[in-house]
Amino acid sequence: MSDSLPPLRDVIASYDLAAKKSLGQNFLLDLNLTRKIARAAGAAEGGTFYEVGPGPGGLTRALLSEGAGKVIAVERDQRCLPALGDIAAAYPGQLEIINADALSLDEREILPPGVRIASNLPYNVGTALLIKWLTGASTSKNAEGNSQCEQTGAGLRPGVRPNKNWPPFWSSLTLMFQREVAERIIAKPDSEHYGRLSVLAGWRTKAKILFDVNRSAFVPPPSVTSSIVRLDPLAEPVAPADIRRLERVTAAAFGQRRKMLRHSLKPLGGEALLEKAGIDPTARPEQLNVAQFAALANALNN
Ligand code: SAM
Repeated sequence: MSDSLPPLRDVIASYDLAAKKSLGQNFLLDLNLTRKIARAAGAAEGGTFYEVGPGPGGLTRALLSEGAGKVIAVERDQRCLPALGDIAAAYPGQLEIINADALSLDEREILPPGVRIASNLPYNVGTALLIKWLTGASTSKNAEGNSQCEQTGAGLRPGVRPNKNWPPFWSSLTLMFQREVAERIIAKPDSEHYGRLSVLAGWRTKAKILFDVNRSAFVPPPSVTSSIVRLDPLAEPVAPADIRRLERVTAAAFGQRRKMLRHSLKPLGGEALLEKAGIDPTARPEQLNVAQFAALANALNN
């Protein structure tokens, strides 16, 4: 279903929304494509959606016209607010706009539980947002002003207590990433793209690439192909582990991905740690599955 709003090209021209690289702005102007993304996110089922970076509103309009009951959208660029205001007027009571940095928001305070997230993410913060949503972390700026994740979850210790950050506040993620990042998210062991992001995503979600989006679909076109990735949370992680420990072992292991684990994990306990976790010390990180990384995390002393 289309809406009565003007074409996005006219919206961009009338509100003078020249794309800013510093904000990761690559706009989608083809409403057939944004509707395809909205359908992939399940807009037809209704309910509330959270969108980061609506920009001039291509995906926002598509979510609403495809059946979303409500969209809560957070946009950092004030220049986009009048265009988003026009969409809110066309869909009374269905669009809430927040002018903020999505990295610093505590979503649990502003979103209803079970919200679905659908976004054409700004590339410069896309991975940080995904990690935030996968770990239940809150984010802050470091001394250089760059966003970084802080872990807030206590994590799971086998048989001790549930992780307060899981299941998450969201019920699905439908997100645009650069193809190379999408491949890292869905990668399985023994493959070129398997790494820290694959372990984190595979530990807690079922992730798949739904379709690619050619660079020519964006204004301005980015340098690489993009992909829509859908992540659905598992009720329980693949194996119990403390998220901070899991991140420590994956960082150490994939930080030196060509080395055998007995070398790369030396600072964390080396062969003794691997033996405790029941893992071959001559293995390389890409050979371990998610459950084996969880076993390593659980074998860490502190
Ligand atoms: N959704 C629009 C579309 O598909 O055409 C725009 C997508 S564009 C890739 C990313 C958008 O995210 C831009 O509108 C940008 O201003 C916004 N943005 C960038 N960093 C942000 C942040 N930290 N928090 C919220 N929005 C941000």
